Amino acid sequence: MSKHPVVLIPGDGIGPEVTAATKRVLAAGGAPIEWVECLAGLAALERGREVLPQDTLDAIERYRVALKGPCTTPVGEGFTSVNVQLRKRLTLYAAVRPVRNLAGVPTRFDGVDLIIIRENTEGLYSGVENQVTDDVVMSMKVATQTACTRIAHWAFRFATRRRRKKITIFHKANIMKMTDGLFLRTARHVHQHEYPNIDYQELIIDAGCMKLVQDPTQFDVLLLENLYGDVVSDLCAGLVGGLGVVPGANYGERGAVFEAVHGSAPDIAGKGVANPLALLMSAVMMLNHLADQRDDESCRTAAERIKAAYNRALDEGQKTRDLGGTLGTDQFAGAVIERLR
Ligand code: NAD
Repeated sequence: MSKHPVVLIPGDGIGPEVTAATKRVLAAGGAPIEWVECLAGLAALERGREVLPQDTLDAIERYRVALKGPCTTPVGEGFTSVNVQLRKRLTLYAAVRPVRNLAGVPTRFDGVDLIIIRENTEGLYSGVENQVTDDVVMSMKVATQTACTRIAHWAFRFATRRRRKKITIFHKANIMKMTDGLFLRTARHVHQHEYPNIDYQELIIDAGCMKLVQDPTQFDVLLLENLYGDVVSDLCAGLVGGLGVVPGANYGERGAVFEAVHGSAPDIAGKGVANPLALLMSAVMMLNHLADQRDDESCRTAAERIKAAYNRALDEGQKTRDLGGTLGTDQFAGAVIERLR
């Protein structure tokens, strides 16, 4: 079977380090991928390009699958987030972040097996901000019936296919009665009318976060609007070992972009110590997606081999510093490659 073209965006900060390590492992694991490298973020600006060049968007539309390293966004000033632009311009409306314990990574809780589904296109991430008076600035939270319905259907369909038992909605509809109210009422309606067999729970987000840190094993699939999904993803990463171990995918009708939950980690960039596992796990999600979409079992085989190899490496104490180990980025990739069978 021929190789699948996949867009690769190395990204900023630790991005080039973790993407290079991931590429090495995928090549060694026999993944039938032909990388089409494209620019985005500071890396694009540094080469005199726009922060999100049109040819990068065109390539993702053409090949429909991308693996993306994190991109830096300036805080409190500067350009709009590349990540947000990418998700909006390609309508990648469903972010999925599986959060699970890993063998060899001891944490406070065992048995964590959560899937976070985040609406990816609106809410406060719409970026509609105004200077109203000298004293007042305003940010607009946007919710549309279209996007709320789209993500609710997607989440229940996903949960059904994965044989998950329960969906919990985190919201603040007691305060944001219109926006979060619409998100909540829509999810409730889709549940009642189309998926009554899945257990359904609604929690106000503050109480939900308290319950998450008390006992995350009581949750199964979480469905959240954009900003809550962003914050709760990092909180949940902390439950299973941190940002180095939580992968992610952004799905839409026109393509899928796989990326870790973590950012460009400027504090450790260039030191060769970043954990490449979250991006590697995202790449495994990507291989399974390719197997489903292109009916190519060699992608599934590569995914399973790589997953077994990184699990073995962790179980045998081969870990990067964020997990209490001593390995650098490339050394960890090497330890995974040595355990490929
Ligand atoms: P971050 O996720 O980059 O880092 C938070 C902390 O986690 C840091 O201490 C970092 O060293 C650590 N960390 C993150 N990934 C790690 C890894 N793979 N291995 C070991 N340690 C890791 O979050 P931040 O510092 O708040 O953001 C930095 C930049 O990243 C910002 O510009 C932000 O906008 C951007 N960002 C991008 C994405 C994305 O591209 N999808 C996501 C989140 C943040």
